[in-house]
Amino acid sequence: MFETVLKCTKCGKEYSLASGIYKCEKCGAPLDVQYDYDSIRDLIEDNDSWFREPPRVWKYWMFYPVSNLRKIVSLNEGGTRLYRMKNLEKKLGFGKLYVKNEGENPTGAFKDRGSSVEITKALEFHAKKVVVASTGNMAASVSAYGSKAGLEVTIVVPEGTPIGKLVQAVVYGAKIKIHGSTYDESLAESERMAREEGYYLTGNYHYRVEGQKSTGFEIFDQLRFDSPDWIVVPIGAGTHLRAIWKAAKEFYELGLIEKLPKIAGAQIEGYDAIVRAWKERKPITPIKEKKPTVASAIAVKAPVDGENVIKAIDESEGYLGAVTNEETMEAGMMLGKEGLFVEPSSATALALAKTMREEGIIDKDESVVIVATGHGLKDIKTWESFIKL
Ligand SMILES: [Zn+2]
Repeated sequence: MFETVLKCTKCGKEYSLASGIYKCEKCGAPLDVQYDYDSIRDLIEDNDSWFREPPRVWKYWMFYPVSNLRKIVSLNEGGTRLYRMKNLEKKLGFGKLYVKNEGENPTGAFKDRGSSVEITKALEFHAKKVVVASTGNMAASVSAYGSKAGLEVTIVVPEGTPIGKLVQAVVYGAKIKIHGSTYDESLAESERMAREEGYYLTGNYHYRVEGQKSTGFEIFDQLRFDSPDWIVVPIGAGTHLRAIWKAAKEFYELGLIEKLPKIAGAQIEGYDAIVRAWKERKPITPIKEKKPTVASAIAVKAPVDGENVIKAIDESEGYLGAVTNEETMEAGMMLGKEGLFVEPSSATALALAKTMREEGIIDKDESVVIVATGHGLKDIKTWESFIKL
């Protein structure tokens, strides 16, 4: 409603919102939705009851590029709890430690926030069928929301993808198309289907970013419109971290929070392309080999929003680090003792925060929010192989 144009995150070229493109036609970088923030400010300032509404994805509808609120596709996503971890904060020496538990979303992962906005946009573009290249949480989430909206959903996966990873998407009604031997080949096929066969392309693109901002909005809202000192996020493609930083800047710009958080991003060992590029101040070089990992949900070789992650880290004076498989599983066990069962990829954020505290990057008085992106039942195989009875 208050969106204005699409702008390239790299070269700055602007495009009309009606253009229906997925990335910059000039340089290939991801796009970003721009807004008229003065109008959003006017709307919120005149609306006292808005501040008292419980946090949910669509509470922040004015920050999404959606034209008709009666046509949104929702499964009651968001509104996930922010838990104070008193035992853990004492044990690890944090000022305050919270976990945003994204496993409480309808399909068990943070992706539902983005899918709700993305599938709503698909309907606005009169789509009949959607496609996504994914073998995990994204596939499940797009399938649930696409089917709910009455759309045909096709998931493109590379050969050899274990059936276990696709079960949830199939139950939600998706068709599976096997194409290529790597994720990159599946992704290219999904983009071809969008170009040539009339599919609406879903995945890590700009409309998903807009929905994912709600993780950030809710954290600030749940802290009574205050910002923690740090927000620590696992990085796969980097889209979620980018979105949370955008949310922080938007709330700050509108005077809804008085300070900006520092953002930290966790990658898993073997898939640390962004961390390396950031530390060495060099361009991101995609990972070539496949390595064994406990964090398959974030084991991304060529992160599409890598450069936007580095920009967010630099702007927020934050931090990037890679954690080991062992540190990740140990962090997952620590969360378990606080009553939270998360998928291993989620635990990378706590593993990184623990290291940052030990190294003094996070000060003893600082408040930290960990974003736990998915439910432990999402990746039960990895947990099975770790636990010895
Ligand atoms: Zn560009």
